[in-house]
Amino acid sequence: MNGSVGDQLLGVRHVQQCAARLIDDQSVTGSERRRQIVAHDRDPVTTEHDLLARIEAREPGDGIGHRTGAYARSMAAPTDRLYFRQLLSGRDFAVNDTMAAQMVNFVYAIGDRQTGECVLVDPAYDPAGLVDIVAADGMHVAGVLATHYHADHIGGSIMGHDIAGIAGLLEQVTCPVHVQADEVPWVERSSGVTAADLVAHRSGDVVRVGAVDVLLVHTPGHTPGSQCFMVEGKLVSGDTLFLDGCGRTDLPGSDHAKMIESLNRLSKVDDDVVLYPGHRYSLASSATMAAVKQSNYVFEALA
Ligand SMILES: [Zn+2]
Repeated sequence: MNGSVGDQLLGVRHVQQCAARLIDDQSVTGSERRRQIVAHDRDPVTTEHDLLARIEAREPGDGIGHRTGAYARSMAAPTDRLYFRQLLSGRDFAVNDTMAAQMVNFVYAIGDRQTGECVLVDPAYDPAGLVDIVAADGMHVAGVLATHYHADHIGGSIMGHDIAGIAGLLEQVTCPVHVQADEVPWVERSSGVTAADLVAHRSGDVVRVGAVDVLLVHTPGHTPGSQCFMVEGKLVSGDTLFLDGCGRTDLPGSDHAKMIESLNRLSKVDDDVVLYPGHRYSLASSATMAAVKQSNYVFEALA
């Protein structure tokens, strides 16, 4: 990838602006415009050291594109045990919150129906409401996975608005918050939690929720420690990759070149994996990687 293509990819055609236009066009509901595994005594979401060792042995890098170790397991066909919910801010939770409705964030609940444990990906706006939603399904929150530090994902202040997030959640539930190691200082500054509340990860780590393995994949670019999650044929991508476009790279901690590298890595994800983004910037809420590789201009530009 040379610089000019990169500029074309991320500079001129700005992702979220494009997405906002797309949504206006389609009248989508709303006014839119992760180095160490830390064992945690109180942590019901355990990590698996042996599995990590296998990943390291076989997969220098992040394991994307190689069906071995945790990656193979995270790519397995969905089982009856997998609990997976996609929740849209302002519609499925935080329904009276104008900011939540405008930001169209997706929160994900991923867990094991048999054990009743789940993790929340990017719980923001109404953490108590999110706890209630999964409780209505017979699930309890056993951890948090954070894709990156931005306030609309983990809480904090954005454009003068205070958004509740992981700090609020930790008042309700005692659980670990899994972040990419490079994101730790940013998460501390943005969300108001301390490093003691966070579990720092590197790419290739696995967070086990009951019997469900979630693979953490470092995808820097939008922020230094942005990470994606792979679980049973699903890719939860935060603000790294949307159905149309990708995350902005003009924000504090963004890195244009690293975003290009991350998108190149995601371009190797199998076609039958379903992409679940961090925002509803498209009419559809999810799509197969086959469809995204075909229609998303970022992959066109990478080719
Ligand atoms: Zn973001």
